Amino acid sequence: MAKDEKNVARVVIKECDTYQIEQVMEKINSGMDCLGGWDTFVKPGMTVLLKVNLIGPKTSDTAAITHSEFVRAITRILKARGCTVWIGDSSGGAIAGTAPTAQSFVVSGLKQVAKEEGAQIKNFDREGVEEVLIRNGRVDRMHLAKPVFQADLVINVPKFKTHSAAVFTGAVKNIFGLIPGLKKADYHRIAPSPKDFAHVIASMHKATSIGLHIMDGITAMQGEGPTAGTVYKANKILISTDPVALDAVAVKMMGLDVDDVVILAVARDEGLGEADVGKISAVGDYQAPPRLEGFRLPKYTRWLRLRNYGFVSTALQFLKTRPRINLEKCRHCNMCVESCPVQVIDEATKVVDYAHCIECMCCHELCGYQAIELRKDNVLAGLLIRLYGAIRR
Ligand code: SF4
Ligand code: SF4
Repeated sequence: MAKDEKNVARVVIKECDTYQIEQVMEKINSGMDCLGGWDTFVKPGMTVLLKVNLIGPKTSDTAAITHSEFVRAITRILKARGCTVWIGDSSGGAIAGTAPTAQSFVVSGLKQVAKEEGAQIKNFDREGVEEVLIRNGRVDRMHLAKPVFQADLVINVPKFKTHSAAVFTGAVKNIFGLIPGLKKADYHRIAPSPKDFAHVIASMHKATSIGLHIMDGITAMQGEGPTAGTVYKANKILISTDPVALDAVAVKMMGLDVDDVVILAVARDEGLGEADVGKISAVGDYQAPPRLEGFRLPKYTRWLRLRNYGFVSTALQFLKTRPRINLEKCRHCNMCVESCPVQVIDEATKVVDYAHCIECMCCHELCGYQAIELRKDNVLAGLLIRLYGAIRR
């Protein structure tokens, strides 16, 4: 990973308020200069895989996916350098028994970008898998999309987004899309606790070799991400070879710390990168992570602030987060029913069997109609909020 002369992890922060292609290319190129330039990473003739965030069939203007013009900009840069470019991902969820990845490539505009720029689409659901051995207590082997092992360089191209269950999704979590199609649900089932799931993600990073991370934060998602939030114009591009350092800077911009995001805390503990913002060298247009004024966090992030009060924190572990389907908004597409890893949503009534729900929030994440609301157990939640208020006074 890129370190400066004092062996410090480096994160480039560039200001960019448009998806106008030449400007995005210029910002990325000048950002890459801060890491030694493109020549440090690519040579003519190389095959480069852009691992984008294509969570589902969403348009770029929703900020739920990596913007197609952002991907176009990187593709054009790499093509000009004589590289073969692959654009790949696997979407979450299921419609009529299959993952909607093919549809996602069309709806996002990425299929069109690939056609116009001479890149190839790699639908990870159809490209075959490579078995990798993993050691993390929950999983001993995984099957990851083959292109990630076939490319000469993998560039992770995540989106800057909140996540109602994981708090934040960026460079570290984006790699989950290397698991093809419906297999993703298995890992939610095998590793239902946030910590166990975070160890799965960390293991995936260790099993692969991602050379560079370029985050699309020109538009970010705030509120109830990763799909049901709203667009926030963050006007930032973040670049690093260290996914933990990049995400640590991003969450700092949101007003959070790495310990607020389990996936990042575990990635740090597993030695995947530098998480201490004080030890990260911010370069580019900023020398420190700029605060995103007015950025809305997910509703349940307020619970994080209770973790320092031991007994409250213990009580919180018994609070269930319950997805509830609002039938007035529901269009009965059955995406949630088919995507639930433990099959606890009744197809006819859309009632969730909370006794067996593993709180993965896949249903909330994948509903395209924002029809799923998240609630904590109300009585206990109310008591804890009052208790927290009393402690603060
Ligand atoms: S809640 Fe959303 S995903 Fe589930 S059936 Fe209704 S519209 Fe579809
Ligand atoms: S109901 Fe939703 S949160 Fe519960 S297990 Fe199913 S997909 Fe996960």
